[in-house]
Amino acid sequence: MLRKLVQSRCLSNGVRSSLHSLTRVSSTLSFSSSTGTTNSFEEELDHKNHTSPLVEPSSTISIDRSGLHNPPAHTHEPSSGSELVKHLKGIIKFRGGPISIAEYMEEVLTNPKAGFYINSDVFGSEGDFVTSPEVSQMFGELVGVWTVCLWEQMGRPDKVNIVELGPGRGTLMADLLRGTSKVANFTKSLHAHMVECSPALRDLQYKTLKCAPEDVRSDSGDERVMSQFSNVPISWHSTLEQVPSGLPTIIIGHEFYDALPVHQFQKTTRGWCEKMVDVADDSRFHFVLSPHPTPANLYVMKRLKWAVKEEIAKLEHIEVCPKGMELTHEIAKRVGSDGGGALIIDYGLNGVVSDSLQAIRKHKFVDILDNPGTADLSAYVDFASIRHSAEETSENVSIYGPISQSQFLGSLGINFRVEALLENCTDEQAESLRTGYWRLVGDGEAPFWEGPEDQTPIGMGTRYLAMAIVNKHQGVPVPFQ
Ligand code: SAH
Repeated sequence: MLRKLVQSRCLSNGVRSSLHSLTRVSSTLSFSSSTGTTNSFEEELDHKNHTSPLVEPSSTISIDRSGLHNPPAHTHEPSSGSELVKHLKGIIKFRGGPISIAEYMEEVLTNPKAGFYINSDVFGSEGDFVTSPEVSQMFGELVGVWTVCLWEQMGRPDKVNIVELGPGRGTLMADLLRGTSKVANFTKSLHAHMVECSPALRDLQYKTLKCAPEDVRSDSGDERVMSQFSNVPISWHSTLEQVPSGLPTIIIGHEFYDALPVHQFQKTTRGWCEKMVDVADDSRFHFVLSPHPTPANLYVMKRLKWAVKEEIAKLEHIEVCPKGMELTHEIAKRVGSDGGGALIIDYGLNGVVSDSLQAIRKHKFVDILDNPGTADLSAYVDFASIRHSAEETSENVSIYGPISQSQFLGSLGINFRVEALLENCTDEQAESLRTGYWRLVGDGEAPFWEGPEDQTPIGMGTRYLAMAIVNKHQGVPVPFQ
């Protein structure tokens, strides 16, 4: 029955052999449990209540509610005591005017003292949201299959930088390294670089990857940190720019782009006006529209140049992500000059995003302005913009996708993988595997779910998309053929 769920194409030889190595180590793999589940529906959220009467209000946003338990709590009372609230109000006061939503988002997520990601583990059923690597070990393993296939296409270089952008708990990298451990020449070639801004998550990644200082110092005299998985050296950096260049590089960005700050604009009779965050007389945060063009208007113009007329005509709102464009420049520059490729998986659209920014706390949607720093903020990823930004940067890269997560994992052999794992597991593990499988590749509610109805797992198979940016001399990466 599982075989029917995903239309797997014939596996290429590279995938088959990589998957085979993976299957042989199945008995050593652990089972991650699937968590945090629920109904999927769309709701129109009215922004009017939070927009200054001086300006035309933003109308509505459509939000994706899959994986959440309840309707949004509309308590947008700022907790005036919190350090971050004081800090944000201080910036607005000091500037003498409102700040962009991008600046608000950046402070809320990554402020070095009180940002959402900075001090705690926000993932899993006890945290705020659940991501694919936490749903099932199969996710990281199959991303591992993708990296081995790419490495083969790169001509099996003996030194490779593998970079993960925003590794969360480190689960994806741990499953990738454990799953590929039988491909000794591949793992021997690797140096893993974790791009992570949060000290708390860096500590967690260190533990998940079972890291320890190397017994013997490296040739350069540096004391390296080694993961017990395949004895791969691991380093941490705050940005991709800080990762040493000059070596073929494989970059993985799973649910990273969606955390990058976005600017929001609204169409008015004065043209595109930026939506900003201000403090009202009653001391609450609220949205206002900028009366004049802002520096980010340039990014709107840039983004609209890549859009077709029909797409632009329909737009009342637009979101742009300059940080996402800059990151793509850096990725394309590296992949174009050093060889290798990048895999980007996230939720989003293959076109202009109009109004998608959302806040999630403890698996529920909440107001974006409510108690900043205590909820995740994320926005849909504009994959078309990534494609254009990469094309603009380097003639030496080719861009593939986006394809759906279900196509991606299906073509990499998730059906074979789940069946191999099901052969040798307890009933409880089998249930967890089936649920995890459905959540990764399904589209809608899981058909075999026997738990409480209001917690039926919803598939991420079509809402999540995968895109690859690879050095064009290496051919087409699997499974984008
Ligand atoms: N990839 C993980 C976690 C996704 S959440 C998973 O799928 O489970 C986003 C991750 O990116 C977190 O680890 C967060 O701390 C990190 N992050 C967010 N913004 C960042 C930034 N600007 N620079 C570096 N890391 C960032």
